[in-house]
Amino acid sequence: MSDIRYDLIHDEYALIAPERLHRPDCYRYLGSMEDKKSDDCPFCPGHEAMTPPEIYAMRDNAPNTPGWKTRVVPNLYKAVQIEAAWESREVGPYLEWEGLGAHEIIVDTPRHLLRMDAWEVVEYANWLRTMRLRVNDLRNDIRLVYISLFKNHGHYGAATQAHPHTQLIALPVVPRRKLDQYRRAYRYFLQRRHNIFESVLNQERNDAVRIVGESEHFLVFCPFASTFAFEVAVLAKGEGIASIGDLDDAKMDDLAQTLKRAVDAMYGELGDFDFNLLINTPPMQKNVDTEEFFDAIPQMWRFGLRIVPRLFRMGGFELGSGVHINPVPPEEAAQLLRDRWEGS
Ligand SMILES: [Zn+2]
Repeated sequence: MSDIRYDLIHDEYALIAPERLHRPDCYRYLGSMEDKKSDDCPFCPGHEAMTPPEIYAMRDNAPNTPGWKTRVVPNLYKAVQIEAAWESREVGPYLEWEGLGAHEIIVDTPRHLLRMDAWEVVEYANWLRTMRLRVNDLRNDIRLVYISLFKNHGHYGAATQAHPHTQLIALPVVPRRKLDQYRRAYRYFLQRRHNIFESVLNQERNDAVRIVGESEHFLVFCPFASTFAFEVAVLAKGEGIASIGDLDDAKMDDLAQTLKRAVDAMYGELGDFDFNLLINTPPMQKNVDTEEFFDAIPQMWRFGLRIVPRLFRMGGFELGSGVHINPVPPEEAAQLLRDRWEGS
């Protein structure tokens, strides 16, 4: 059983999850991007019995058998669990909850691919549609306020399974750092009657030196204050698209193609690289923390994602201050990636 604990000094939450210690580190199929089925991979087709029963699968046949395009299962080594009680305990000045939440694994594709640039566009599209479906389903659980959707790839990206997969962690609290971002976006919107992400889009178009590429519905660029070298952001251009759950099929297909092109450009420039992929999600429920801005989310927030290469390890300065030292100016990174994008 895990706990969610609130840190009085730092105004942030921690998940204390001893079960995570027991997960096998299976990230050892390095150095090849061949589509080879692995005998002991729990996410390969035919190995459905190696995972807990599926929550969802994109398939036309019976559950928990091969024949799926994507598959969602509970994380066996979960950081939080949906069965937990929803009450806080005060311990002196401290505050803790049982680790209530959802921790799911989305198996992105049946193919045991080691690199994302080997994905077909349709695999991107199936993966995106599966995430949209899970987010829209978990929105119905009023206890779950915040969803984190992310991919860990490679040793430095903290992956422990090689098979392409995405993790979803839904929590009953909004991480304070995220809450700060939402409140800042709301203040910006109140003061200027303008979406903060729209301002970024406009500025990037004006400067034009950090743009990697553009599609009908998305802009791909290296952020002005990139915290990591070769960090790439993908931002939706349309009004009212605050979450992956708001993307219609046409925008999903456009995003699939856009992401494929961006990922290919990154692999072209960086070779085999470890990364985290972070999908930006707004809070899902109105509660004491979110009620101030919740109704304004469609106007003040915007769907996007970031691909963060983990080329250098984090040190004490980064950990202590939250300020990152990035040795590659985003303008230079964008120039190199733009050349790859245009050449593709
Ligand atoms: Zn596999």
